[in-house]
Amino acid sequence: MNLLTVKNLKKIYGSKWGGSICHALNGIDFEVAAGEFVGVMGPSGAGKTTLLNIIATIDTPTSGSVRIDGTEITSLNETELSDFRRTFLGFIFQDFNLLDTLTVQENIILPLSLAKVKARACATEIEARLEQVSVILGIRDILAKYPYEISGGQKQRTAAARAIITKPKLILADEPTGALDSKSSLELLQALSEINTENQATILMVTHDAFAASFCRRIIFIKDGLLFAELLRGDGRKEFFDKILSVLAALGGDNRELF
Ligand code: ADP
Ligand code: MG
Repeated sequence: MNLLTVKNLKKIYGSKWGGSICHALNGIDFEVAAGEFVGVMGPSGAGKTTLLNIIATIDTPTSGSVRIDGTEITSLNETELSDFRRTFLGFIFQDFNLLDTLTVQENIILPLSLAKVKARACATEIEARLEQVSVILGIRDILAKYPYEISGGQKQRTAAARAIITKPKLILADEPTGALDSKSSLELLQALSEINTENQATILMVTHDAFAASFCRRIIFIKDGLLFAELLRGDGRKEFFDKILSVLAALGGDNRELF
């Protein structure tokens, strides 16, 4: 079953004051099955972030359809959207978005608190989930610390823990390893893979990094707001990595550094 179906999605950014308009998405179509781990790649300016933000319900399309788990999200009103976001989606951004005045633990359980879970009845449930996500992400030892006391990699893993503690059906990540060193990237990617296989979470991850992309089961390549190519991972991650590099070369010509 498809968890996500995107049809003929268009986004035109325009200036109200008569400036130039920008066609960020030009009628893109694709589907993601439940439980898939899909990477989104493409040159800078291809429309990746726009696409992710529309699926995340943070931005609205000019036209087209986005169905998530059977719900047409483009026709939801503001109240329905915030409910939907809370119940179905988890986000991981490049810049962490942690609240500085809260501890790691408080940041992670924030979405559950916002979900208005009845505190008493659910205290054990919250604790159990906190334990599970902090083990997966290797951050049990830093739960009492504040964001300014931890490293970039730990911040990103805290943000990932916050994204998955609600057990969202769809996790959206925009360049989640962009600000991390290679060791922290590897740890986050392994954690995402584990969340994908253990919790059956569907993941859509934008990345410009072929190594990060090689953890996905499938990659969609976007160029000029349209699907350009698709790659399925076979058995080996190394062969997949090499295939990704060749598609990137075809996509970018001499401009590989643009990715
Ligand atoms: P990517 O994430 O692939 O680098 P984006 O989705 O951020 O690409 O951008 C796609 C295109 O849309 C780019 O040409 C960008 O300049 C333009 N764009 C993105 N956001 C806005 C905005 N808020 N207003 C106007 N143009 C935008
Ligand atoms: Mg982007």
